[in-house]
Amino acid sequence: MEKIIETKLINFDNYNNALFEAVEVLKSGELVAFPTETVYGLGADGLNPDAILKIFKTKGRKSDNPLILHISDLEMLKKLTIQPLNDIIKIAEKYWPGPLTIILKKSKIVPDEITAGLDTVAIRMPDNKFALDLIKNLDRPVAAPSANLSGKPSPTDAATCMKDLDGKIPLIIDGGNTRFGLESTVVDLTQKPYAILRPGAITYEELKDFLGDVEIDSHILGKSETPRAPGQKYTHYAPEASAYLVSGSNSEKLEKIKEFIKENKDIKIGILASEEFLKDVENSIEKYNLGSIEDLETYGSLIFRGLRDLDDRKVDVIICEAVDETGLGLAIMNRLKKSTGNKFI
Ligand code: AMP
Ligand code: MG
Repeated sequence: MEKIIETKLINFDNYNNALFEAVEVLKSGELVAFPTETVYGLGADGLNPDAILKIFKTKGRKSDNPLILHISDLEMLKKLTIQPLNDIIKIAEKYWPGPLTIILKKSKIVPDEITAGLDTVAIRMPDNKFALDLIKNLDRPVAAPSANLSGKPSPTDAATCMKDLDGKIPLIIDGGNTRFGLESTVVDLTQKPYAILRPGAITYEELKDFLGDVEIDSHILGKSETPRAPGQKYTHYAPEASAYLVSGSNSEKLEKIKEFIKENKDIKIGILASEEFLKDVENSIEKYNLGSIEDLETYGSLIFRGLRDLDDRKVDVIICEAVDETGLGLAIMNRLKKSTGNKFI
């Protein structure tokens, strides 16, 4: 039988106390859920193999899916890789702290439990004061995938972490809603051309501008079966309800939804879409407003929250509005395709 732990939820009313408690939990080899600027992370001491294994067990994460190490300064970076750092430092200085994860050749101190046996390691410096203070005070890198059960939408607030992890970890830190609500962009810098293995808040267009030679892993573009980031092959971000995408012009989308309702009587339908589209959708449908289609940063930041919210309203089906796969749209569609199993109505 799994041991039930009492899970404490603390906020920043006393910031120093929250920080102290979180550091103590990590030092003792246990897990803490904490805010970052992307989504909430489930943190462990990144150099402690037993603690790292607890992440896999707690989330139900597949053991071949490597973790990201979070750092608070470039001195930590130097210890984690054997790659020459000249070019890498320029990239780090441009994007860190921020939602860019880089893959480098690992050094000996990186545990195999982090990399799932690969000879490369994923590293990021998060842009969140609490996350940075936590790493700085532990004085070691912090391993932190999203703080949800594997397969479910990632948590963008502490209450959602509590829903998934209550009774499983000793501490959750409430730092409010996360800014991006989408995971970091993962870019492989071990070989040229550099390659985006997972789209995220830092866009392909931006990276191409800065790095010059960068490609997108063909798996993301739907052109190959095997992704270079092991995690991309798994079902992800799935709500309880069956989920579908809908695409086309507004009138085409409305027509497809009408048709879907006709074919699926007596089911409760929810829709996750822009305010521009939602105003034309009939009111018998449960709506979740992602804001303006012109503001993809807000749109993307609300996707996971919206999927969870519609699940809470007990809909049977969630229909998600597709966006163009350019700029932030590439990351948004990557998540929505996984949430829906790439099914369109
Ligand atoms: P998350 O589960 O959101 O923390 O995401 C981490 C992502 O980075 C997953 O898709 C992993 O498979 C990927 N990843 C982590 N380490 C590596 C690595 N060394 N090489 C390739 N992909 C990695
Ligand atoms: Mg995750």
